[in-house]
Amino acid sequence: MRIIILRLGHRIQRDQRITTHVALTARALGAEGMLLDSDDKGIAKSLEEASETWGGSFYVRNITSWRSEIRKWKAEGGKVLHLTMYGLNLPDVIHEIDAENLMVVVGAEKVPRELYGLADWNVAVGNQPHSEVGALAITLDRLAATSGRDALKTQFTGKLEIVPRRAGKEVKGR
Ligand code: SAM
Repeated sequence: MRIIILRLGHRIQRDQRITTHVALTARALGAEGMLLDSDDKGIAKSLEEASETWGGSFYVRNITSWRSEIRKWKAEGGKVLHLTMYGLNLPDVIHEIDAENLMVVVGAEKVPRELYGLADWNVAVGNQPHSEVGALAITLDRLAATSGRDALKTQFTGKLEIVPRRAGKEVKGR
C-alpha cells in the first residue's frame, strides 16, 4: 500500500514542531511523503536533512488547495482516510481499508466540515482526543500489520545508521 499524508491547518508560528513530528513519524513508519497545506518551507527543509542523514526519499510538498489535491487523488483512483476522534474506531474499520493508494489526512485545529464528506473513511484511533502524531503512528502501524508488514522494520539507507544497543549509543557511517 502506497501512503501519503495530507497535513491541514498548520500554523507557522505554533505548529512547526508538531508538523515536523507528523512528517518524521510518517517517514519512519513507511509513508512516501507529506502534502502540507501551508507555505512554510521549513518543514520540507528539516525532512530533507533527515532523509539526507538517515536515508529514504520522503518528501514534503507545500500545497495551496487541499480540496483540489484530494479531488485529483480521488480522480486517479486513490482513497482518503481522515483521522478524527469523531470517526469510526480504527479496529472496527481496518478490514475495509484496502486501497492501493491511500491519503491519510490529519488536522491541527478544527478541520473544515467538508472534509468529512470528501473522505472515504473518517477514522478515530479510539474515540478520545489525543494527537495527530499518536493517531498517525498507530494507524500506519496497524495498516502495515494488516498487509503483513512490520512498519517498525522499514529499511533506510543513509549516511548514518543506528546500531541498536541495550545501553549506550552507537551510530556508524556508510
Ligand atoms: N478538536 C479538534 C477537532 O475537532 O478535530 C481536534 C484537533 S487534534 C489536536 C488535531 C488532529 O489530531 C485531528 O485533526 C486529528 O487528525 C488528530 N486526532 C486527535 N485525536 C484523534 C483521535 N482520537 N483519533 C484520530 N485522530 C485524532
